[in-house]
Order: sequence, then C-alpha cells, then structure tokens
Amino acid sequence: MENIIRIAVQKSGRLSDDSLKLIKECGIKFYNGTGKLKSSSTNFPIEFLFLRDDDIPGYVADGIADLGIVGENELVEKNKDVAILKQLGFSKCRLSLAIPKGESYPGIEYFEGKNIATSYPKILGDYLKTVNIKADIHEISGSVEIAPSIGLAEGICDIVSSGSTLMMNGLKEVEEIFQSQAVLISHKGISPAKQISVEKLLFRMDAVQKGKKNKYVLLNAPNENLDKIVALIPGMRSPTILPLAEEGWSSVHSVISEEQFWENIEELRNAGAQGILVVPIEKMLI
Ligand code: ATP
Ligand code: MG
Repeated sequence: MENIIRIAVQKSGRLSDDSLKLIKECGIKFYNGTGKLKSSSTNFPIEFLFLRDDDIPGYVADGIADLGIVGENELVEKNKDVAILKQLGFSKCRLSLAIPKGESYPGIEYFEGKNIATSYPKILGDYLKTVNIKADIHEISGSVEIAPSIGLAEGICDIVSSGSTLMMNGLKEVEEIFQSQAVLISHKGISPAKQISVEKLLFRMDAVQKGKKNKYVLLNAPNENLDKIVALIPGMRSPTILPLAEEGWSSVHSVISEEQFWENIEELRNAGAQGILVVPIEKMLI
C-alpha cells in the first residue's frame, strides 16, 4: 500500500496525550496498547511509531517516518532538515535562563564568562551569539534545575511553563530565550501517493482546529435591532434568522470566533440580545 503514511508521535510524556487526541478528533481509529511501539489504523492509511521525542526529528529527516509531532524546542535543537506543516497549539512552553534566587541580575551580561547547564546547547549557543555573550555551556540531559545547587553551573537554561519547578529549586527566571509549541513536521521527499494521504490528514486537522477556535452562538433578538446584531455576529456566510413564537422577536444563529464573541458581548447585550447560548463546534469545514 504505497499511500500509507507513517507518523512518529511521542510514546509517553507531555506531547503524547494531545497528539493522540488530535489524531482521534480527525476521525482516525487506532489501537494504542501500552508498550506498543508501532500501530496502524483501521480506517485511514496511516501507521504510528511511538518514540522518544528526541528521536522524532531525525526519523522524519531520514524518511523512516513521513510525519512527526514534536515540540519546536526539540526540532530546533536537533537542527534536522524537515518541513514544518502546521503549528498545533498545544505543549506550549518557553526556554528560559534562570539563576539562584538570591543573586541580583543586572542584565544578560550577568552570564559573561559563566557556566550554564542546559539540555539545549544549540538553542542556547545561538542565543548567546546573538546577544554577544561568551559563556560555557555545560550539556546535561535532565534534572537541569539542580545544577546550581550542586555547584555544577552558575545558571541554567531549561523549559519553563509555570515556573514552579524553578521556585522549588531556589531559582528565578531572568530571560526568556525561545517559545515553543507542538508542530507537525514532514519528511521533505514524500512520494506523490503518500502526499495525497498527508493532504487528507491536514484537511481534517484544519477542520478540527477551526472548530476549536469558533463557537456556535444562538440568541434571541428584538426585531428592530436585527441589523445591528447580525453585523456583530456575521457568521460563515450570514447568520440564520428564525421567528420566535413571540411577536417582534427572532432567534439568530451564527458562528463566531471565541475571542470575537467576548469582544462583542457588551454590544450584543446593548442591542437587546437575550438568552445567549454558546455551543462548541466539533469540526468546521468552510
Ligand atoms: P522523552 O522521554 O520522549 O524524551 P522528555 O522527557 O524529553 O520525553 P517531556 O517532558 O515529555 O519530554 O516534554 C516533551 C515536550 O513537551 C517538550 O520538548 C516541550 O516541547 C513540551 N513541554 C515540556 N514541558 C512542558 C510543560 N510544562 N508544559 C507544556 N509543554 C511542555
Ligand atoms: Mg526527550
């Protein structure tokens, strides 16, 4: 079957649940038993490889996998030649420099000549070059936060999401150097037959992503203000307007981005909108 694509996803960790959830939301069924390293789908031409995230960029660059889901941090660090097809909006985090809490921090020059522990020597090295700082980068593969307290390094560069791990280890964040989220990556030389399956998958992912960003809105509106209200929730083509049993009122149905909804809510209410219902959309095809 020359159209079967292979996608590499993280076996277990901070990317895996959302990666598999997205694939399921695309209507793709598969078996994901614990400990299984490979799986296939019963209703889509796709196979899964469950790997450590460190290995995903390399597998995709080499064409062992056609697609992969990985954090931008890992992708940039590994510096492999792959195409980025889509930002996926989950596993958002940042890479930051941190130093012991008690130190005063004058600015990036603090790090001149210092020793910094990190699992991201390339990203950190590139950053230090752009800010013209010479520091020693000490590469370690995990538990980076303890490096200062055991005398291994004077500062660290690591992933931060809430900052609580830094706090627990007596550190404070002083510079954010990189922002990351999960991305869908692809091998650069995909065959035309596989490309068709990739396009199908992308179409479905787009529909899922658009559905998440938008809401279905239903509200009751006094007829004399319908024009105003329709202008506030224009929808995909235009809103649906249905008469209510009560004379002089209509029900207006539309689709609107969640962000826009909150921005327009006051104006909607001022225009007399009542009984506003906001309903999630599972998929959205325009
Ligand atoms: P593996 O065993 O696969 O090598 P790992 O320990 O390297 O896993 P995880 O901690 O599972 O990695 O994180 C995977 C990716 O998720 C990170 O590279 C980063 O992109 C993202 N990530 C890490 N920490 C967070 C966080 N606290 N919140 C959101 N996303 C995160
Ligand atoms: Mg890893």
